[in-house]
Amino acid sequence: MSNVADQALLRRTFAIISHPDAGKTTLTEKLLLFGGAIQLAGTVKGRKATRHATSDWMALEQQRGISITTSVMQFPYKDRIVNLLDTPGHEDFSEDTYRTLTAVDSALMVIDAAKGVETRTIKLMEVCRLRDTPIISFVNKLDREGRPPLELLDEIEKVLGLQCTPITWPLGMGREFKGVYHLLEDRFYLYSGDKHRISEIETVDGLLSPGLGDRFGQSYQTLRDEIELLQMAGTEFDLDKYRAAKLTPVFFGSAISNFGVRELLNGFVEWAPPPQPRATDARDVEPTESKFSGFVFKIQANMDPKHRDRVAFLRVCSGAYRRGMALHSVRLGGPVRISSALTFMASDRETVEEAWPGDIIGLHNHGNIAIGDALTEGETLRFLGIPNFAPELFRRVVLRDPLKAKQLNKGLDQLCEEGATQVYRPLTNNDIILGAVGTLQFDVVQFRLRDEYNVESSFEPVSVHCARWVDCPDPALFNAFVDKNETRMARDHYGDLVYLASSSVNLSMTRERHPEVRFLDTKEHA
Ligand code: GDP
Repeated sequence: MSNVADQALLRRTFAIISHPDAGKTTLTEKLLLFGGAIQLAGTVKGRKATRHATSDWMALEQQRGISITTSVMQFPYKDRIVNLLDTPGHEDFSEDTYRTLTAVDSALMVIDAAKGVETRTIKLMEVCRLRDTPIISFVNKLDREGRPPLELLDEIEKVLGLQCTPITWPLGMGREFKGVYHLLEDRFYLYSGDKHRISEIETVDGLLSPGLGDRFGQSYQTLRDEIELLQMAGTEFDLDKYRAAKLTPVFFGSAISNFGVRELLNGFVEWAPPPQPRATDARDVEPTESKFSGFVFKIQANMDPKHRDRVAFLRVCSGAYRRGMALHSVRLGGPVRISSALTFMASDRETVEEAWPGDIIGLHNHGNIAIGDALTEGETLRFLGIPNFAPELFRRVVLRDPLKAKQLNKGLDQLCEEGATQVYRPLTNNDIILGAVGTLQFDVVQFRLRDEYNVESSFEPVSVHCARWVDCPDPALFNAFVDKNETRMARDHYGDLVYLASSSVNLSMTRERHPEVRFLDTKEHA
């Protein structure tokens, strides 16, 4: 029988964040390759096609079938067990991505060397910052012409507010790309450009090793100058600062050519934090505790009508999960029936016998598990830091058959608990307003209402620009605020009050008029 503390210490659970096209899929594949989880590059490909198929429902369905198996990838590397959590490629499902980031202990940020810090990366970094998630950076596509590396580091520091410590440094770039220099090892890794196999890499020890100037010419001189600048700037690696999310170690490479990935993975398993304690409304839960606990951060519905089940993704926070054990749902206040739990090894789903802190298990269920649910051995606690994110798109639901109102509400409640959409019910009329982060979410909701609840609905534009949860320490002032703005107030699925602003001007004016009220764009799961 294994010991919880020993098992927990082995785990490294992370996700990759990046702007589309920076190379997340390619890097994922190469990490699996170096981790020994797949033999040949090319296995992760299946997921890609859908990113462009914005309106093709079938493609979406196919994607879902595939992505269930690739949502979590576990592989052993250097005495550690690495759990890589995939995030949806399509930005319409970015809420799923945000919530996945609440289930990791660290993240890997991929930056395209030609493009630098892009919009989606900025947004994902904001989410990481909610929990001070430590970040390791990989500057990708060095085999192509990109921006000067010093400029890229400067941009990461200024735009993302993260101090950069280069661990490797490029020797040339684009057609002149010759390799990287490892600052901590004082060693060059030389680039051969072989894209198809993990070739033996030539290394040269020592920055000042003789003959390098002759061999690499101007690229070598530039590297020497840049390293000197870095040393003067004093950017030593500091593990505590990295773990406190103040500093990011930076690696350079070319994922497509398998280059720089091994060094990245080595740095990752050495520095990335093991499972961290988790805050709850009752106390902090330590991963080493013997009793099992975990929370659900994602629910994936099965689109196949023959298997109308759902897989809830649960992050183990403490103790051991063992097959067949009784689980207690804190929200329902009782036992929750699970037919089987799945583990995820690269491309196979397997039934899991046991799982440890940091691991993710997939729980089959028929709708009795909701996002944010805590499952325990009986203790009542609620994990904090699994937020709802304010949606950016809104639609009014129009029911084709008014007699189906009950089914509609039931379906929407369920879809809300799965995190597929958010629902707002205005205080002063009977509208039902849906909120989403991406338009594809609306397609999914419409399809599932018809398919699973037999409800025909259509969605209309509505004059809502954004939604903000509101609260105020002074009940009298709060009531006055709600009364005055009643026509723009609604309740969310959990009964909390939301201000539905008609425009950004409307939001800022309302804020100015009510400085005592807080307008929040995230809310803890109830
Ligand atoms: P994702 O959208 O972040 O998952 O990005 P992908 O991994 O799909 O990569 C986007 C595109 O960039 C694809 O055409 C890749 O082949 C290409 N790509 C990825 N890594 C590299 C690299 O290291 N060098 C070059 N030249 N292209 C790359």
